[in-house]
Amino acid sequence: TSARPDLVVVGSGFFGLTVAEQVASQLDKRVLVLDRRHHIGGNAYSEPEPETGIEIHRYGAHLFHTSNERVWQYVNQFTDFTKYQHKVYSIYAGKTYSLPINLATICQYFDKSFSPSEARALVAEQAGEIDTAEARNLEEKAISLIGRPLYEAFIRGYTKKQWQTDPTELPAAVIARLPVRYTFDNRYFNDTYEGLPVGGYTAWLQKMADHPNIEVRLSTDYFDVRDQLPPDVPTVFTGPIDKYFDYEAGELGWRTLDFETEVLPIGDFQGTSVMNYADEDVPFTRIHEFRHFHPERDYPADKTVVVREYSRFAETGDEPYYPINTPEDRAKLERYRELAKKEAADKRVLFGGRLGTYKYLDMHMAIGSALSMFDNRIRPFFDEGGSLDGRLDD
Ligand code: FAD
Ligand code: UDP
Repeated sequence: TSARPDLVVVGSGFFGLTVAEQVASQLDKRVLVLDRRHHIGGNAYSEPEPETGIEIHRYGAHLFHTSNERVWQYVNQFTDFTKYQHKVYSIYAGKTYSLPINLATICQYFDKSFSPSEARALVAEQAGEIDTAEARNLEEKAISLIGRPLYEAFIRGYTKKQWQTDPTELPAAVIARLPVRYTFDNRYFNDTYEGLPVGGYTAWLQKMADHPNIEVRLSTDYFDVRDQLPPDVPTVFTGPIDKYFDYEAGELGWRTLDFETEVLPIGDFQGTSVMNYADEDVPFTRIHEFRHFHPERDYPADKTVVVREYSRFAETGDEPYYPINTPEDRAKLERYRELAKKEAADKRVLFGGRLGTYKYLDMHMAIGSALSMFDNRIRPFFDEGGSLDGRLDD
């Protein structure tokens, strides 16, 4: 059926689909999108759980949030968003607390009412043992920000379970994502825009791919079909960069997740969408109850779906979820970046997305970075006939 594509995109996640959509709609070029999975959408894919009809996110809960105007305008072409605002709670030693650490958490934990300045003074005193600028690892950084007691309750056990690595051996940067607030504001994200796609993630992703210039081929591994593709066709590769180069510089380390899904014969299990479990001896890190992501929907009143999340190192064949980023990983990545540069110049292959760059990217970041790749590399290539690495051909 298919005419020769002008561009091949490997991977139908947000990165790949954004590139494909832009090339199809802005340049009127034909795009062939390949995905090895049987469905579109990469890790943002969602589907109704069959017994209850409750939308579950197959590869972990996905919350959309962004402060990037351009990304917000762009995504609103494909879906409307609900007013959902993410909030997370944490159970530690049999009590439930509010996250991220805020004035409510501090009052609950120390079992006393504090004003914002009293709480600030208390935490400053407890955090005084380590200077943030000198923190050499996650544990020191966390203690320097929130003090030892709060660290030991809410961070240490959870982080150990999530990374299966002692927090003294993790980079301090991991914790930069956890704000501490001296107000009762317990919204999880600080971004200007937040919400969930009204019709679900898969409908949104399908809308992006729904263009006469785009052909999506599912259950198709690029490495099995690359010999049959036109030899000089430009390619955007969003699969694992180490795999692309046959692990020439070694395997990059990833963390994976195991999800245990259960349908319960009750209308509400935990009263909220995400409950973290801070105790080290509880084997899972959190429980998602998916009905709470869409309180506006008409879901069954006598059934609910819960998903327990377990974290571990990825082995061959596991889904890679979070880059571990040890110093060895970063050294390997440097080598792969060199190889990628050469591949762009010699073979017109660009690498993008979470797996293609070995970077944890939120959805809005993957979309933003795909829009930049389109503007800076792909459009000039098609408009002016340059090479894909940003230089014009001689
Ligand atoms: P992916 O979605 O991973 O897509 C890559 C695609 O490439 C996959 O479909 C894969 O099958 C395909 N592929 C790989 N190799 C090949 C091959 N050889 N041939 C053909 N196809 C191939 N972001 C948020 O903004 N909010 C959240 O709450 C959030 N939660 C997350 C929770 C988890 C557990 C994870 C893992 C991620 C989360 N994210 C979240 C991040 C979000 O999933 C990513 O931003 C998004 O998936 C990035 O899209 P991508 O296209 O780069 O990669
Ligand atoms: N974290 C923690 N306790 C929590 C939640 C998060 O210690 O209850 C730490 C943990 O180290 C984790 C990091 O904060 O790796 C980032 O958490 P976030 O919830 O943003 O991670 P994600 O949802 O992306 O897995």
